Amino acid sequence: VKKNGRNGYQFFSDDLNGQLLEQLELEADLRKALERNEFTVFYQPQIRADNNEIIGVEALVRWQHPVKGLLPPGLFISAAEESGQIVELGNFVLREACRQMRQWHDEGGPLIPVAVNLSSQQFLQYSLLEDIREILRETGLAPKYLELEITEGMMMDATRSSGILNDLAKSGIRISLDDFGTGYSSLGYLKLYPIHKVKIDRSFISGITDSSNDRAIVATILTMAQHMHMQVIAEGIETKEQLEIVVDSGCQDIQGYYYSRPLAADDLKQKYMFPLEA
Ligand code: C2E
Ligand code: CA
Ligand code: CA
Ligand code: CA
Repeated sequence: VKKNGRNGYQFFSDDLNGQLLEQLELEADLRKALERNEFTVFYQPQIRADNNEIIGVEALVRWQHPVKGLLPPGLFISAAEESGQIVELGNFVLREACRQMRQWHDEGGPLIPVAVNLSSQQFLQYSLLEDIREILRETGLAPKYLELEITEGMMMDATRSSGILNDLAKSGIRISLDDFGTGYSSLGYLKLYPIHKVKIDRSFISGITDSSNDRAIVATILTMAQHMHMQVIAEGIETKEQLEIVVDSGCQDIQGYYYSRPLAADDLKQKYMFPLEA
């Protein structure tokens, strides 16, 4: 779209403006995708290692692009964050995940919580609590079956954060600290905020078979969490070796490719919700 006419689109000729143009195009694409319902939610099972039972799922958004196929969030989440569209997208994921869990419950599936990722923009929306309550009312999902995944980086403003988190927790919604240990960690907030669960980040798991430092970090997180009555789940378990080390350290709740990749709703339903009917 480079034109050198009177009004000269030369504005877009250098690299930076090229990037701006790309961002604008992606923004317009995201707008269309939201309107056309091209986003879909995948679910990754969370498994209890000692009995192989499903104990929860994490909702992970995908873009079913008409030309490019199924796109992972890494390709569009940051653009959606920059443009503010993440709020609408995030509310779609929340609503869809809650609706799906309620539907599976109604069909006789197990009662398990769904974890939904929250972006920092959503977290700071004044309407967050009301939006979520409305979604729970609409879908009929009990609040204790919704778990919100937040990250350490979102809690820079301690007063504001504790206000938001306390309101959510009072409503019966559960809070989970994602990517634990990778952010601007200040362990102090763990005792200030109502955090029900920490997720041990994949970066500590991937080195766990070779690095005694990573094993020590995982063991320390587990000890601390137990002391503070928080649940722990290990993320990114890919191998049997990693599983065994983590289980030996005292962590039974597992999410990772070793058990399953994130699955389309129908696949998760067949494999985990109603396995005997398959
Ligand atoms: P996350 O919240 O840390 O989600 C876990 C990511 O790790 C997922 O990638 C999942 O597919 C991947 N994963 C799970 N187990 C394994 C494993 O064993 N090995 C490896 N290598 N990877 C594993 P995904 O679905 O591509 O999502 C990437 C990130 O995008 C998420 O990281 C999250 O930060 C963001 N995201 C996804 N869905 C949403 C959403 O609805 N809203 C927002 N705000 N962010 C989302
Ligand atoms: Ca997450
Ligand atoms: Ca994570
Ligand atoms: Ca993350």
